Amino acid sequence: MAADVRDGLSRLPDVAAVLERHDAAEALSTFGPRPFARAVEEELALVRDRIRAGGPVPRADEIVVAAGERLAAHRGRRLSRVVNATGVVLHGNLGRAPLSGAARAAVAEAGGYTTIEYDRTDGRRASRTAHLGELAAEACGTEAATVVNNGAAALMLVTAALAGGREVVVSRGELIEIGENYRLPDVMAAAGTHLHEVGTTNSTRLADYRAAIGDDTGLLLKVHRSNYRVVGFTEDTPAGALGELGREEGVPFAYDLGSGLLHDAPGALAEEPSVASAVRAGADLVIFSGDKLLGGPQAGVIAGRADLLLRCIRHPLARAFQIDKLQRAAMEATLEAHLRADVPTDVPVMAMLHADEQRLRERAGWMADQLGGGAEAVSVRTVVGGGALPGVELDSWAVALAGAPPERLESRLRAADPPVIVRLEQGRVLLDLRTVPPAQDADLVDVVLDALS
Ligand SMILES: *Cc1c(COP(=O)(O)O)cnc(C)c1O
Repeated sequence: MAADVRDGLSRLPDVAAVLERHDAAEALSTFGPRPFARAVEEELALVRDRIRAGGPVPRADEIVVAAGERLAAHRGRRLSRVVNATGVVLHGNLGRAPLSGAARAAVAEAGGYTTIEYDRTDGRRASRTAHLGELAAEACGTEAATVVNNGAAALMLVTAALAGGREVVVSRGELIEIGENYRLPDVMAAAGTHLHEVGTTNSTRLADYRAAIGDDTGLLLKVHRSNYRVVGFTEDTPAGALGELGREEGVPFAYDLGSGLLHDAPGALAEEPSVASAVRAGADLVIFSGDKLLGGPQAGVIAGRADLLLRCIRHPLARAFQIDKLQRAAMEATLEAHLRADVPTDVPVMAMLHADEQRLRERAGWMADQLGGGAEAVSVRTVVGGGALPGVELDSWAVALAGAPPERLESRLRAADPPVIVRLEQGRVLLDLRTVPPAQDADLVDVVLDALS
Protein backbone atom coordinates (compact mmCIF):
# COMPACT_ATOMS: atom_id res chain seq x y z
CA MET A 1 0.00 0.00 0.00
CA ALA A 2 1.30 3.44 -0.86
CA ALA A 3 2.23 5.64 2.08
CA ASP A 4 -0.28 8.38 1.21
CA VAL A 5 -3.11 5.85 1.01
CA ARG A 6 -2.15 4.41 4.39
CA ASP A 7 -1.96 7.93 5.77
CA GLY A 8 -5.39 8.80 4.31
CA LEU A 9 -7.03 5.70 5.76
CA SER A 10 -5.52 6.35 9.17
CA ARG A 11 -6.95 9.89 9.20
CA LEU A 12 -10.53 8.59 8.85
CA PRO A 13 -12.58 8.67 12.06
CA ASP A 14 -14.12 5.44 13.34
CA VAL A 15 -17.88 4.96 13.68
CA ALA A 16 -17.96 5.73 17.40
CA ALA A 17 -16.14 9.02 16.87
CA VAL A 18 -18.61 10.09 14.20
CA LEU A 19 -21.58 9.20 16.41
CA GLU A 20 -20.22 11.38 19.21
CA ARG A 21 -19.92 14.49 17.08
CA HIS A 22 -22.17 17.46 17.81
CA ASP A 23 -23.30 17.78 14.22
CA ALA A 24 -24.46 14.14 14.26
CA ALA A 25 -27.03 14.76 17.01
CA GLU A 26 -29.88 15.69 14.70
CA ALA A 27 -29.52 12.69 12.38
CA LEU A 28 -29.13 10.45 15.43
CA SER A 29 -32.44 11.56 16.90
CA THR A 30 -34.25 11.61 13.54
CA PHE A 31 -33.25 8.13 12.41
CA GLY A 32 -32.17 6.41 15.63
CA PRO A 33 -28.68 5.30 16.71
CA ARG A 34 -28.62 1.90 15.04
CA PRO A 35 -29.67 3.00 11.53
CA PHE A 36 -27.35 6.01 11.74
CA ALA A 37 -24.38 3.88 12.84
CA ARG A 38 -25.04 1.50 9.95
CA ALA A 39 -25.20 4.39 7.47
CA VAL A 40 -21.90 5.78 8.81
CA GLU A 41 -20.31 2.34 8.48
CA GLU A 42 -21.51 2.04 4.88
CA GLU A 43 -20.28 5.52 4.09
CA LEU A 44 -16.86 4.83 5.63
CA ALA A 45 -16.52 1.62 3.61
CA LEU A 46 -17.25 3.58 0.45
CA VAL A 47 -14.79 6.29 1.39
CA ARG A 48 -12.04 3.72 2.10
CA ASP A 49 -12.52 2.26 -1.39
CA ARG A 50 -12.27 5.74 -2.86
CA ILE A 51 -9.08 6.54 -0.93
CA ARG A 52 -7.50 3.29 -2.13
CA ALA A 53 -8.36 4.38 -5.64
CA GLY A 54 -6.54 7.67 -5.08
CA GLY A 55 -9.54 9.74 -3.96
CA PRO A 56 -9.49 12.53 -1.35
CA VAL A 57 -9.96 12.06 2.40
CA PRO A 58 -13.31 13.59 3.44
CA ARG A 59 -13.76 15.60 6.61
CA ALA A 60 -15.80 14.03 9.44
CA ASP A 61 -18.66 16.54 8.95
CA GLU A 62 -18.91 15.44 5.32
CA ILE A 63 -19.32 11.85 6.46
CA VAL A 64 -22.12 12.91 8.83
CA VAL A 65 -23.92 14.69 5.98
CA ALA A 66 -23.47 11.78 3.56
CA ALA A 67 -24.77 9.26 6.13
CA GLY A 68 -27.80 11.48 6.76
CA GLU A 69 -28.50 11.68 3.03
CA ARG A 70 -28.25 7.90 2.76
CA LEU A 71 -30.91 7.50 5.46
CA ALA A 72 -33.15 10.19 3.96
CA ALA A 73 -33.06 8.37 0.61
CA HIS A 74 -33.96 5.14 2.38
CA ARG A 75 -36.86 6.85 4.15
CA GLY A 76 -38.11 8.01 0.75
CA ARG A 77 -39.12 4.40 0.15
CA ARG A 78 -41.66 4.34 2.94
CA LEU A 79 -45.38 4.58 2.13
CA SER A 80 -45.96 7.99 0.61
CA ARG A 81 -48.88 9.81 -0.92
CA VAL A 82 -48.74 10.32 -4.69
CA VAL A 83 -50.68 12.23 -7.31
CA ASN A 84 -52.16 9.64 -9.65
CA ALA A 85 -52.06 11.29 -13.07
CA THR A 86 -52.13 7.97 -14.94
CA GLY A 87 -55.90 8.09 -15.48
CA VAL A 88 -56.14 4.50 -14.20
CA VAL A 89 -58.83 4.85 -11.52
CA LEU A 90 -58.12 1.52 -9.76
CA HIS A 91 -54.32 1.47 -10.04
CA GLY A 92 -53.10 -1.66 -8.29
CA ASN A 93 -49.63 -0.25 -7.57
CA LEU A 94 -51.07 3.00 -6.22
CA GLY A 95 -53.46 1.42 -3.72
CA ARG A 96 -56.58 0.93 -5.88
CA ALA A 97 -59.38 3.10 -4.46
CA PRO A 98 -58.63 6.44 -2.80
CA LEU A 99 -60.92 6.86 0.23
CA SER A 100 -63.69 9.43 0.62
CA GLY A 101 -63.29 12.34 3.03
CA ALA A 102 -65.69 10.67 5.45
CA ALA A 103 -63.78 7.37 5.28
CA ARG A 104 -60.46 9.14 5.93
CA ALA A 105 -61.93 10.96 8.92
CA ALA A 106 -63.31 7.67 10.25
CA VAL A 107 -59.88 6.03 9.89
CA ALA A 108 -58.20 8.91 11.73
CA GLU A 109 -60.68 8.59 14.57
CA ALA A 110 -60.37 4.81 14.73
CA GLY A 111 -56.63 5.16 15.35
CA GLY A 112 -57.34 5.46 19.07
CA TYR A 113 -59.38 3.20 21.35
CA THR A 114 -62.61 2.16 19.65
CA THR A 115 -65.71 0.03 20.14
CA ILE A 116 -64.30 -2.60 17.75
CA GLU A 117 -65.57 -5.45 19.96
CA TYR A 118 -67.58 -3.56 22.56
CA ASP A 119 -71.28 -2.80 22.92
CA ARG A 120 -71.84 0.63 24.42
CA THR A 121 -75.41 -0.16 25.42
CA ASP A 122 -74.60 -2.95 27.84
CA GLY A 123 -70.82 -2.74 28.22
CA ARG A 124 -70.32 -6.29 27.01
CA ARG A 125 -68.23 -7.81 24.26
CA ALA A 126 -69.74 -7.35 20.80
CA SER A 127 -69.09 -8.83 17.38
CA ARG A 128 -66.37 -7.13 15.35
CA THR A 129 -68.31 -7.34 12.12
CA ALA A 130 -72.02 -7.54 12.98
CA HIS A 131 -72.86 -3.89 12.37
CA LEU A 132 -70.66 -3.68 9.29
CA GLY A 133 -72.24 -6.88 8.00
CA GLU A 134 -75.71 -5.34 8.39
CA LEU A 135 -74.64 -2.28 6.41
CA ALA A 136 -73.15 -4.48 3.68
CA ALA A 137 -76.30 -6.62 3.52
CA GLU A 138 -78.41 -3.48 3.20
CA ALA A 139 -76.20 -2.16 0.41
CA CYS A 140 -76.25 -5.51 -1.40
CA GLY A 141 -79.95 -6.16 -0.87
CA THR A 142 -79.26 -9.54 0.76
CA GLU A 143 -80.36 -11.31 3.92
CA ALA A 144 -76.93 -11.14 5.51
CA ALA A 145 -73.30 -10.22 4.84
CA THR A 146 -69.88 -10.17 6.42
CA VAL A 147 -66.59 -8.47 5.64
CA VAL A 148 -63.13 -10.03 5.73
CA ASN A 149 -59.59 -8.85 4.96
CA ASN A 150 -59.79 -8.89 1.13
CA GLY A 151 -61.48 -10.51 -1.83
CA ALA A 152 -59.03 -13.40 -1.89
CA ALA A 153 -59.79 -14.19 1.75
CA ALA A 154 -63.52 -13.96 1.08
CA LEU A 155 -63.30 -16.51 -1.73
CA MET A 156 -61.11 -18.83 0.29
CA LEU A 157 -63.42 -18.64 3.30
CA VAL A 158 -66.52 -19.35 1.24
CA THR A 159 -64.97 -22.36 -0.48
CA ALA A 160 -63.43 -23.73 2.73
CA ALA A 161 -66.62 -23.26 4.76
CA LEU A 162 -69.07 -24.60 2.17
CA ALA A 163 -66.97 -27.16 0.32
CA GLY A 164 -64.04 -28.11 2.58
CA GLY A 165 -62.98 -31.67 1.68
CA ARG A 166 -65.56 -31.66 -1.13
CA GLU A 167 -65.86 -30.43 -4.70
CA VAL A 168 -66.25 -26.95 -6.12
CA VAL A 169 -67.57 -26.89 -9.69
CA VAL A 170 -65.98 -24.15 -11.84
CA SER A 171 -65.87 -23.45 -15.58
CA ARG A 172 -62.49 -23.92 -17.31
CA GLY A 173 -63.05 -20.48 -18.80
CA GLU A 174 -62.97 -18.87 -15.36
CA LEU A 175 -59.82 -20.33 -13.79
CA ILE A 176 -58.34 -16.89 -13.39
CA GLU A 177 -55.05 -15.50 -12.23
CA ILE A 178 -55.56 -12.16 -10.46
CA GLY A 179 -51.98 -11.36 -9.60
CA GLU A 180 -48.68 -12.95 -8.71
CA ASN A 181 -49.27 -16.14 -6.70
CA TYR A 182 -53.03 -15.85 -6.92
CA ARG A 183 -54.46 -18.47 -9.22
CA LEU A 184 -57.88 -19.90 -8.65
CA PRO A 185 -56.85 -23.60 -8.77
CA ASP A 186 -54.15 -22.95 -6.15
CA VAL A 187 -56.61 -21.08 -3.94
CA MET A 188 -59.06 -23.98 -4.12
CA ALA A 189 -56.32 -26.41 -3.15
CA ALA A 190 -55.18 -24.22 -0.27
CA ALA A 191 -58.79 -24.03 0.95
CA GLY A 192 -58.86 -27.82 1.12
CA THR A 193 -61.42 -28.25 -1.63
CA HIS A 194 -61.28 -30.25 -4.84
CA LEU A 195 -61.62 -28.32 -8.04
CA HIS A 196 -64.04 -29.94 -10.47
CA GLU A 197 -63.41 -28.20 -13.79
CA VAL A 198 -66.16 -28.23 -16.38
CA GLY A 199 -66.48 -27.12 -20.02
CA THR A 200 -63.65 -25.64 -22.05
CA THR A 201 -61.73 -22.38 -22.17
CA ASN A 202 -64.25 -20.71 -24.46
CA SER A 203 -67.45 -22.59 -23.80
CA THR A 204 -69.21 -23.96 -20.72
CA ARG A 205 -72.88 -24.96 -20.91
CA LEU A 206 -75.46 -25.53 -18.23
CA ALA A 207 -75.39 -29.24 -19.10
CA ASP A 208 -71.67 -29.32 -18.20
CA TYR A 209 -72.43 -28.04 -14.72
CA ARG A 210 -75.40 -30.38 -14.36
CA ALA A 211 -73.33 -33.41 -15.31
CA ALA A 212 -70.67 -32.49 -12.77
CA ILE A 213 -72.99 -32.37 -9.77
CA GLY A 214 -72.82 -35.40 -7.53
CA ASP A 215 -72.87 -36.45 -3.88
CA ASP A 216 -69.51 -34.79 -3.31
CA THR A 217 -70.43 -31.37 -4.70
CA GLY A 218 -70.21 -28.63 -2.09
CA LEU A 219 -70.48 -25.51 -4.22
CA LEU A 220 -71.17 -24.15 -7.69
CA LEU A 221 -68.83 -21.23 -8.30
CA LYS A 222 -68.92 -18.59 -11.00
CA VAL A 223 -65.94 -16.23 -11.24
CA HIS A 224 -66.15 -12.94 -13.05
CA ARG A 225 -63.49 -12.52 -15.72
CA SER A 226 -62.44 -9.28 -14.14
CA ASN A 227 -59.11 -8.82 -15.91
CA TYR A 228 -59.42 -10.53 -19.29
CA ARG A 229 -61.93 -11.28 -22.00
CA VAL A 230 -62.80 -14.30 -24.07
CA VAL A 231 -63.99 -13.25 -27.51
CA GLY A 232 -64.95 -15.07 -30.70
CA PHE A 233 -66.74 -18.43 -30.51
CA THR A 234 -67.84 -18.46 -26.88
CA GLU A 235 -70.64 -19.74 -24.74
CA ASP A 236 -71.12 -18.78 -21.13
CA THR A 237 -73.69 -20.04 -18.64
CA PRO A 238 -75.51 -17.06 -17.17
CA ALA A 239 -75.76 -16.66 -13.41
CA GLY A 240 -79.54 -17.04 -13.55
CA ALA A 241 -79.29 -20.57 -14.98
CA LEU A 242 -76.70 -21.55 -12.35
CA GLY A 243 -78.89 -20.17 -9.58
CA GLU A 244 -81.78 -22.28 -10.80
CA LEU A 245 -79.62 -25.39 -11.15
CA GLY A 246 -78.30 -24.90 -7.62
CA ARG A 247 -81.80 -24.67 -6.21
CA GLU A 248 -82.95 -27.76 -8.14
CA GLU A 249 -79.99 -29.79 -6.91
CA GLY A 250 -79.75 -28.32 -3.43
CA VAL A 251 -76.20 -27.05 -4.00
CA PRO A 252 -75.23 -23.49 -3.02
CA PHE A 253 -74.18 -21.16 -5.83
CA ALA A 254 -71.54 -18.48 -5.14
CA TYR A 255 -70.61 -15.74 -7.60
CA ASP A 256 -67.19 -14.09 -7.21
CA LEU A 257 -67.78 -10.72 -8.85
CA GLY A 258 -64.41 -9.26 -7.89
CA SER A 259 -65.15 -5.68 -8.69
CA GLY A 260 -68.21 -4.94 -6.57
CA LEU A 261 -70.33 -2.56 -8.62
CA LEU A 262 -73.47 -2.42 -6.45
CA HIS A 263 -76.05 -1.34 -9.04
CA ASP A 264 -76.36 -1.67 -12.81
CA ALA A 265 -74.91 1.44 -14.38
CA PRO A 266 -75.13 2.91 -17.88
CA GLY A 267 -72.28 3.68 -20.27
CA ALA A 268 -68.91 2.01 -19.89
CA LEU A 269 -69.95 0.41 -16.59
CA ALA A 270 -72.80 -1.45 -18.31
CA GLU A 271 -70.31 -4.25 -19.13
CA GLU A 272 -69.74 -4.98 -15.46
CA PRO A 273 -72.08 -7.44 -13.71
CA SER A 274 -73.52 -5.72 -10.63
CA VAL A 275 -74.11 -7.14 -7.18
CA ALA A 276 -77.81 -6.41 -7.62
CA SER A 277 -77.96 -8.37 -10.89
CA ALA A 278 -76.12 -11.34 -9.35
CA VAL A 279 -78.53 -11.40 -6.42
CA ARG A 280 -81.50 -11.10 -8.79
CA ALA A 281 -80.09 -13.99 -10.82
CA GLY A 282 -80.23 -16.18 -7.73
CA ALA A 283 -76.66 -16.23 -6.41
CA ASP A 284 -76.76 -17.60 -2.86
CA LEU A 285 -73.58 -15.71 -2.08
CA VAL A 286 -71.78 -12.89 -3.87
CA ILE A 287 -68.14 -12.04 -3.23
CA PHE A 288 -66.32 -8.80 -4.07
CA SER A 289 -63.49 -6.52 -2.98
CA GLY A 290 -63.93 -3.36 -0.92
CA ASP A 291 -61.32 -1.36 -2.81
CA LYS A 292 -62.40 -1.84 -6.41
CA LEU A 293 -65.59 -0.23 -7.77
CA LEU A 294 -67.07 0.12 -4.28
CA GLY A 295 -64.34 2.70 -3.62
CA GLY A 296 -63.53 1.68 -0.05
CA PRO A 297 -60.56 0.16 1.82
CA GLN A 298 -58.96 -3.22 1.20
CA ALA A 299 -61.66 -5.68 2.26
CA GLY A 300 -63.65 -8.63 0.98
CA VAL A 301 -67.44 -8.70 1.16
CA ILE A 302 -69.49 -11.91 1.31
CA ALA A 303 -73.22 -11.25 0.98
CA GLY A 304 -76.22 -13.53 0.60
CA ARG A 305 -78.10 -16.24 2.48
CA ALA A 306 -77.94 -16.00 6.27
CA ASP A 307 -77.51 -19.76 6.82
CA LEU A 308 -74.50 -19.92 4.47
CA LEU A 309 -72.96 -16.80 6.02
CA LEU A 310 -73.23 -18.34 9.44
CA ARG A 311 -71.14 -21.28 8.23
CA CYS A 312 -68.52 -18.85 6.90
CA ILE A 313 -68.43 -16.75 10.08
CA ARG A 314 -68.05 -19.83 12.27
CA HIS A 315 -65.23 -21.36 10.21
CA PRO A 316 -61.81 -21.19 11.94
CA LEU A 317 -60.30 -19.32 8.98
CA ALA A 318 -62.68 -16.40 9.64
CA ARG A 319 -60.47 -15.30 12.54
CA ALA A 320 -57.35 -15.43 10.38
CA PHE A 321 -59.06 -13.29 7.73
CA GLN A 322 -60.64 -10.72 10.04
CA ILE A 323 -60.51 -6.99 9.33
CA ASP A 324 -58.92 -4.48 11.67
CA LYS A 325 -60.52 -1.35 13.11
CA LEU A 326 -59.15 0.95 10.38
CA GLN A 327 -60.63 -1.18 7.61
CA ARG A 328 -63.92 -1.37 9.45
CA ALA A 329 -64.06 2.41 9.97
CA ALA A 330 -63.38 3.14 6.30
CA MET A 331 -65.75 0.44 5.12
CA GLU A 332 -68.63 1.67 7.28
CA ALA A 333 -68.24 5.23 5.97
CA THR A 334 -68.05 3.97 2.37
CA LEU A 335 -71.13 1.76 2.65
CA GLU A 336 -73.09 4.58 4.32
CA ALA A 337 -72.32 6.75 1.28
CA HIS A 338 -73.60 4.01 -1.04
CA LEU A 339 -76.79 3.75 1.03
CA ARG A 340 -77.42 7.49 0.60
CA ALA A 341 -77.17 7.46 -3.20
CA ASP A 342 -76.91 4.92 -6.02
CA VAL A 343 -73.95 6.87 -7.40
CA PRO A 344 -72.35 8.53 -4.36
CA THR A 345 -70.09 11.19 -5.85
CA ASP A 346 -68.46 11.76 -2.45
CA VAL A 347 -66.77 8.38 -3.05
CA PRO A 348 -63.79 9.32 -5.27
CA VAL A 349 -63.92 6.19 -7.45
CA MET A 350 -67.55 6.94 -8.30
CA ALA A 351 -66.79 10.62 -8.97
CA MET A 352 -63.86 9.71 -11.22
CA LEU A 353 -65.75 7.07 -13.19
CA HIS A 354 -68.67 9.43 -13.74
CA ALA A 355 -66.54 12.53 -14.33
CA ASP A 356 -68.04 14.83 -16.95
CA GLU A 357 -65.93 14.75 -20.11
CA GLN A 358 -66.56 18.41 -20.91
CA ARG A 359 -65.36 19.37 -17.44
CA LEU A 360 -62.23 17.20 -17.87
CA ARG A 361 -61.58 18.99 -21.15
CA GLU A 362 -61.90 22.42 -19.52
CA ARG A 363 -59.55 21.46 -16.71
CA ALA A 364 -56.98 20.09 -19.18
CA GLY A 365 -57.20 23.32 -21.21
CA TRP A 366 -56.75 25.48 -18.10
CA MET A 367 -53.79 23.41 -16.91
CA ALA A 368 -52.08 23.48 -20.31
CA ASP A 369 -52.41 27.31 -20.30
CA GLN A 370 -50.94 27.54 -16.82
CA LEU A 371 -48.00 25.29 -17.74
CA GLY A 372 -47.28 26.96 -21.10
CA GLY A 373 -44.10 25.92 -22.91
CA GLY A 374 -45.89 23.78 -25.49
CA ALA A 375 -48.14 21.86 -23.07
CA GLU A 376 -51.46 21.01 -24.67
CA ALA A 377 -54.81 19.48 -23.78
CA VAL A 378 -55.34 16.18 -25.58
CA SER A 379 -58.19 13.70 -25.81
CA VAL A 380 -57.16 10.22 -24.57
CA ARG A 381 -58.61 6.81 -23.74
CA THR A 382 -58.10 5.27 -20.34
CA VAL A 383 -58.59 1.85 -18.74
CA VAL A 384 -60.27 1.46 -15.35
CA GLY A 385 -57.73 -1.11 -14.07
CA GLY A 386 -57.62 -3.04 -10.80
CA GLY A 387 -59.65 -6.04 -11.89
CA ALA A 388 -62.65 -4.23 -13.31
CA LEU A 389 -63.99 -3.64 -16.80
CA PRO A 390 -61.35 -5.51 -18.83
CA GLY A 391 -61.11 -4.21 -22.36
CA VAL A 392 -63.30 -1.19 -21.64
CA GLU A 393 -61.79 2.25 -22.21
CA LEU A 394 -63.14 5.56 -20.98
CA ASP A 395 -62.76 8.80 -22.91
CA SER A 396 -60.68 11.21 -20.89
CA TRP A 397 -58.62 14.39 -21.20
CA ALA A 398 -54.97 14.83 -20.42
CA VAL A 399 -52.27 17.47 -20.56
CA ALA A 400 -49.41 16.42 -22.84
CA LEU A 401 -46.14 17.92 -21.59
CA ALA A 402 -43.38 19.18 -23.81
CA GLY A 403 -39.90 20.59 -23.36
CA ALA A 404 -37.81 17.69 -22.08
CA PRO A 405 -37.18 14.07 -23.09
CA PRO A 406 -40.26 12.14 -21.82
CA GLU A 407 -38.33 9.57 -19.78
CA ARG A 408 -36.41 12.31 -17.98
CA LEU A 409 -39.57 14.26 -17.30
CA GLU A 410 -41.33 11.15 -16.04
CA SER A 411 -38.55 10.40 -13.57
CA ARG A 412 -38.35 14.01 -12.35
CA LEU A 413 -42.08 14.05 -11.69
CA ARG A 414 -41.76 10.72 -9.89
CA ALA A 415 -39.11 12.30 -7.63
CA ALA A 416 -41.18 15.46 -6.95
CA ASP A 417 -42.91 16.27 -3.67
CA PRO A 418 -45.58 14.98 -3.80
CA PRO A 419 -44.54 12.42 -6.43
CA VAL A 420 -46.60 12.72 -9.62
CA ILE A 421 -47.15 9.40 -11.41
CA VAL A 422 -47.80 9.95 -15.11
CA ARG A 423 -48.51 7.94 -18.22
CA LEU A 424 -46.05 7.68 -21.11
CA GLU A 425 -47.84 7.25 -24.41
CA GLN A 426 -46.52 7.60 -27.94
CA GLY A 427 -43.42 9.37 -26.72
CA ARG A 428 -45.34 11.91 -24.65
CA VAL A 429 -45.79 12.48 -20.93
CA LEU A 430 -49.52 12.64 -20.19
CA LEU A 431 -51.20 14.00 -17.07
CA ASP A 432 -54.62 12.34 -17.26
CA LEU A 433 -56.98 14.46 -15.19
CA ARG A 434 -59.64 11.82 -14.62
CA THR A 435 -57.75 10.54 -11.57
CA VAL A 436 -56.65 13.94 -10.25
CA PRO A 437 -59.14 15.46 -7.79
CA PRO A 438 -60.07 18.93 -9.20
CA ALA A 439 -59.10 20.51 -5.86
CA GLN A 440 -55.48 19.43 -6.55
CA ASP A 441 -55.20 21.05 -10.00
CA ALA A 442 -53.49 24.25 -8.82
CA ASP A 443 -50.96 22.36 -6.66
CA LEU A 444 -50.26 19.98 -9.53
CA VAL A 445 -49.42 22.95 -11.78
CA ASP A 446 -46.87 24.17 -9.22
CA VAL A 447 -45.24 20.75 -8.86
CA VAL A 448 -45.03 20.24 -12.62
CA LEU A 449 -43.65 23.73 -13.26
CA ASP A 450 -41.00 23.02 -10.67
CA ALA A 451 -40.09 19.72 -12.33
CA LEU A 452 -39.99 21.32 -15.79
CA SER A 453 -37.62 24.11 -14.75
C1 LIG B 1 -59.81 -8.79 -7.50
C2 LIG B 1 -60.43 -10.12 -7.52
C3 LIG B 1 -60.18 -11.04 -6.50
C4 LIG B 1 -59.22 -10.76 -5.39
O1 LIG B 1 -59.65 -9.72 -4.55
P1 LIG B 1 -58.59 -8.95 -3.61
O2 LIG B 1 -59.44 -7.97 -2.87
O3 LIG B 1 -57.59 -8.33 -4.52
O4 LIG B 1 -57.99 -9.96 -2.72
C5 LIG B 1 -60.81 -12.26 -6.55
N1 LIG B 1 -61.64 -12.56 -7.57
C6 LIG B 1 -61.91 -11.70 -8.57
C7 LIG B 1 -62.82 -12.10 -9.67
C8 LIG B 1 -61.29 -10.45 -8.58
O5 LIG B 1 -61.55 -9.59 -9.59
